[in-house]
Amino acid sequence: MGSGLHAETGCRRVYAGEVFECQKNPMEAKEMTGDGDGRKYANSQASFLTKMGKMQSAGCRLCRIAREARGESTDGLAAETHGHINSAGCEGMATTVTSAHHFIWRHLYDSMHAAKKPKSKLKFVTHDKESNMSTLRRREEFLRICSKEELVEKAQDIEVTIPVKKRKEARYNLNPESFFQNRFWGSRPDGAAINENLQIVSILEFKRSTDRDEGFLEVKEAEANGQHKSIISALKAAAPKWEFEQIDFVVGNPPRITC
Ligand SMILES: [Zn+2]
Repeated sequence: MGSGLHAETGCRRVYAGEVFECQKNPMEAKEMTGDGDGRKYANSQASFLTKMGKMQSAGCRLCRIAREARGESTDGLAAETHGHINSAGCEGMATTVTSAHHFIWRHLYDSMHAAKKPKSKLKFVTHDKESNMSTLRRREEFLRICSKEELVEKAQDIEVTIPVKKRKEARYNLNPESFFQNRFWGSRPDGAAINENLQIVSILEFKRSTDRDEGFLEVKEAEANGQHKSIISALKAAAPKWEFEQIDFVVGNPPRITC
């Protein structure tokens, strides 16, 4: 973990395990961290607090509540880190985090749409709602790019080369062939834009992440690119005269303790 310089105040941004220092307003830092001298390890992660004896378990309390409400086992809870509770992976926060993602993306998407030049041929084909590949494929704009048969064949060729994630192994074992088809056609990019004049298709992906760690932009961009690698590759193989690209939008969600 590392620390960076706050662009506006000159104060140090807090990262896990780093010393919190607020040169601009030490008293404010004292209040935020609850420490007597305004200088403290401001790591709010549960594992750290557990080591300090402030918490009994590092397991996420929000996940625990969600599982208890469903009558499920609370074994194997994810660690309660800042990143976890701000992700859709947190069972107690998933609905809220997903709603925040959709809300912000909708605003960005509408802004891009509104900023189009009057003569622009760019068409946002998923402007109204998020669509999966199966839905996108049925749109008339995509029907003019390549045949369904070609895309099915190329998608299958590429999907079988992409490893099956551990948490999806059970589903894969039930029916390997349909697993790959479902994985491809169920892919859900946040948006797509087509320029038929230039023959360019842009697959759009929006990521919202904690910006606690330096390098979060690269991490989330790599994640987004991996997510739609199959779509881009299959489309390129099925329609070689067209150009396909992925454009990622990554926004940071600041940590609670900041200055
Ligand atoms: Zn959780």
